[in-house]
Amino acid sequence: MAQKELLKVTNLKQYFPIKGGFLGRTVNHVKAVDDVTFEIFEGETLSVVGESGCGKSTTGRAILRLDEPTAGEIEFDGGDLLALSKSDMRKKRKDLQVIFQDPYASLNPRQTVAQILTEAMAIQNVIPKKERRKRAIELLETVGLNAGQIDRYPHEFSGGQRQRVGIARALSVNPKLIICDEAVSALDVSVQAQVLNLLKNLQREFKLTFLFIAHDLGVVRHISDRIIVMYLGKIVEIADKKSLFDNPQHPYTKSLLSAIPTPDPEAKKERIILKGDVPSPIDPPTGCRFHTRCPFATDLCKTEVPDLRNLDHMKEGHRAACHHIEKIVTGDMQPT
Ligand code: SF4
Repeated sequence: MAQKELLKVTNLKQYFPIKGGFLGRTVNHVKAVDDVTFEIFEGETLSVVGESGCGKSTTGRAILRLDEPTAGEIEFDGGDLLALSKSDMRKKRKDLQVIFQDPYASLNPRQTVAQILTEAMAIQNVIPKKERRKRAIELLETVGLNAGQIDRYPHEFSGGQRQRVGIARALSVNPKLIICDEAVSALDVSVQAQVLNLLKNLQREFKLTFLFIAHDLGVVRHISDRIIVMYLGKIVEIADKKSLFDNPQHPYTKSLLSAIPTPDPEAKKERIILKGDVPSPIDPPTGCRFHTRCPFATDLCKTEVPDLRNLDHMKEGHRAACHHIEKIVTGDMQPT
C-alpha cells in the first residue's frame, strides 16, 4: 500500500533581507533556503542533516511559519499551510509541534510542569479543564518522569529530564507531526541515547511523524527512516537511511560520512577533507553550490545548477543533485 504524504514542501525559498545604507534599504539577501522540495510520509522519521548554516533549521521554522517563507508551497495533511490566516495557523499548530534544542530556554522558568503542560492543552482546547492535570500526569509518566514531579519548576530538573518535559508538552495536544530541531544536541551522549529511544517508542505508540533536524550523523543514523543532506540552502541528496549510509552518492555526503568515527579501530576508512570553508549564503557560488569545494568540479558545475534527480543505478527514491554522479561512481571521473 502506498504511503500517505503528510507534508509536501515544494520549491521552498527563505531569503532574509540585509538592510544597509543611510535609509536602511534592503541591499542584499541571505539565501538561507533556496528551492527545496521534499515530502514526509505518515509515520516516518525524516532527518535533515548538514553543517551549521546549511538551512536545515530555517526549513523547520518555515514549515511552522515561525518565519514566513519567501516563496514555495507547503501542503500539510491535505491543506495549504501558507493559505491559513494567522489565527487559523495558531489552531493548526495543534497538529504541528516542535521540540527545540535548549529545553531550558523553551520552557517558562516561572511555570511549574503542571502549568506548562496544561497551558498547551488550554490554548488548543483539546481536553476539558478538569481533566487536564490528570492528563499532564499521564504525559509525565509516558515520557519517563513521575507524578511527584508535576509541581516542580524547570530548574529543578536535569537537562535530559527537561527535554522529556519538552516532549510531554509537544505530545499534550496530540500532534500529527513533531519537528525536532537539534532536540538532543545539547545532551550528554548517554542521555541522548535515552531520549532518542524514548522518541522512537513514542512514535510507535502514538503513530507520530518526525522531521528530525540535526548536525550529528551518528544521531541521525539512530533515529531516521530517510535522510536529507543539505548544503548551503539546497538539498544535495535524499535517500532511505540504509541506502545513504551504505552507498552515499553525492561528493558532499561522502565527505560528511567519512568524518564519522568507526567503532572498529582496525577498520580502514579514508577521511575526505574538503578544501576551503562553506561560502557565504549571501553570495552563494553559481551553478552547483558545492563546486568551490568539490574535487570533481568541472566548468559545467560552475554555471548550471544540478537537478535533484532519481538515480537509475540506485534504489528508487535515492535522489542526488550532481551533474557527474554516474561517472564518479564508475570511476570514469577522478578527483583533481
Ligand atoms: Fe561536484 Fe559538479 Fe557534482 Fe557539484 S555537480 S557535486 S561540483 S561534480
